[in-house]
Amino acid sequence: MEQNLSKAIVEICRACGGDRTRMMDIVEAVQSRFGCVSGEAMELIAKEVKTHRVEVESVVSFYAFLSDKPKGNVVIRLCNDIVDKMYGADRVAAAFEEELGIKFGETTKDGKITLERTPCIGMCDQPPAALVNDKVMTWLSTDAARQIVRTIKETGDPEKLSHTLGDGANASPLVRSMVSNNVRARGEVLFAAHEPGVGLERALGMSSVEVIKEIKTSRLRGRGGAGFPTGMKLEFTRGAEGARKFVLCNADEGEPGTFKDRVLLTEAPRLLFEGMAIAGYAIGADSGVLYLRGEYAYLRAYLESVLAEMRAKNLLGVGIRGKKEFDFDVRIQMGAGAYVCGEETSLISSCEGLRGDPKNRPPFPAQKGYLGLPSSVNNVETLSCLPRIMERGAAWFSGIGTPQSSGTKVLSISGDCKSPGVYELPFGASLREVLKMAGGEDAIAVQIGGPSGQMIAPKEFDRKFCFDDLATGGSVIVFGPKRNVLEVAHAFMEFFVEESCGYCTPCRAGNQLLAKGLEKILAGQGEPADLEYLEKLGSTVKIMSRCGLGQTSAQPVLTTLKNFRELYEKQVKARPDGRQPTFDLKAAVGDAEKIAGRASAH
Ligand code: SF4
Repeated sequence: MEQNLSKAIVEICRACGGDRTRMMDIVEAVQSRFGCVSGEAMELIAKEVKTHRVEVESVVSFYAFLSDKPKGNVVIRLCNDIVDKMYGADRVAAAFEEELGIKFGETTKDGKITLERTPCIGMCDQPPAALVNDKVMTWLSTDAARQIVRTIKETGDPEKLSHTLGDGANASPLVRSMVSNNVRARGEVLFAAHEPGVGLERALGMSSVEVIKEIKTSRLRGRGGAGFPTGMKLEFTRGAEGARKFVLCNADEGEPGTFKDRVLLTEAPRLLFEGMAIAGYAIGADSGVLYLRGEYAYLRAYLESVLAEMRAKNLLGVGIRGKKEFDFDVRIQMGAGAYVCGEETSLISSCEGLRGDPKNRPPFPAQKGYLGLPSSVNNVETLSCLPRIMERGAAWFSGIGTPQSSGTKVLSISGDCKSPGVYELPFGASLREVLKMAGGEDAIAVQIGGPSGQMIAPKEFDRKFCFDDLATGGSVIVFGPKRNVLEVAHAFMEFFVEESCGYCTPCRAGNQLLAKGLEKILAGQGEPADLEYLEKLGSTVKIMSRCGLGQTSAQPVLTTLKNFRELYEKQVKARPDGRQPTFDLKAAVGDAEKIAGRASAH
């Protein structure tokens, strides 16, 4: 075994060129072959890529899908986001535990199966869902959970799990997944028919300056939510000093409730890769990296085949379409289960083979990004717009949507609605119209932009999806009359507690305190003064945190306090004696009472 490990690690490291910056690929390969990256493996990797063991260990300890301890050959990861819970994830969890005879976080005695919970896996339109190794299982019931366990016990092979295939490319031989696309509205930009190469060829007939001018004229803005003008970002990167430049595509949509990039990657990958090539031509880059979230590993072989097909058609590779001075290719970098890597500087750290720690800005990635070189980081949806702009022209694109928000927006709609799925709509549609399309008219609240976005009350349902009003990366979660908005806010805070990288105190400790404050109020122990305390604490976390995660993590508390204040006010009460009941004696001794089998006097 020792020799096997040593030999395998030499092979794996050499396949990655002995390059320390490919650490993510190295540790993922070791993990998938040996079930973990043990201390011994870390020593061997460090020696092979000429670094220190602590660097390898810092990567392995950071990502949820990596481990230094052996896990089962099969790891079942049940999604525990809010939408999955609304659709019975807790019942499914109980069935898994019962059938396996273990609790979450444990491995069966024979070492074969590990049971874990995981945050959003991008399947909120078909919940509850789980990953069985890389295989996605959707619409789980308690019976389905039991059947999964039985099949794995019998065969040890997730590929033997029975299911019907999903639609579109989900059914292709390289995917063979039960995932459904659920495309409910096709717009004229991204889900329209696309002839690969037309936009790229038009771009190659222009100078890079003219291409950037065309993109600027289209008024395309980044689809991640912040809305930075894409043409300007490309212009900055083009103008920056650097021996090489890179196009990075952020396909790490980890925001709960977001799954539109999953569908774009499944149904329109050629559009995306062509968009990366156009961006590469515009900034003078010869390489692109698609950072694909670990939860979408089931799409990797298929995406690699699309890249190969595009190379064969000379849409990628050397001297693209006869343009001798333009070479461009794309490699896929897998993530490994870290929400913070959706933040662009964390994503760069991860691509460089490091922990997904955010970097200080400035310098911005356009000046000093991947490997310290100028890089343009854009998400899947933004890059996918480029071929269409080049093909149909800036005037066509800017004629769609509103004056400040041109083009279409792809929304991922889930929760309490009849038709969850993906909707590509021109910017400017109102939330009320969208709820009607999705069959969620009786919503009492809608979370826009995931937990880091805002919770909207019915009186604001006439607001419009655009950068000046309801700006969103795409997540729209609908909550019907049976839901408790404060419980939802608490679930979102728990998500941030889990996902904070822990680097800075306001985010690491502040989110814990916000979650605890909500727990106190939900337990009926809140005082009116707690509302002011939560507001002040939330603002501090927002202002003092280092990266985008912490700067938006207080949103569930702040936006529900703003838009649903009456719910908080109903729940808190001033004590006549002026004391604040911060300690619940009855709850604290509850477990001891159960063990002793009798009530205590208090
Ligand atoms: Fe890490 Fe949170 Fe600080 Fe960002 S804000 S660096 S996620 S602790």
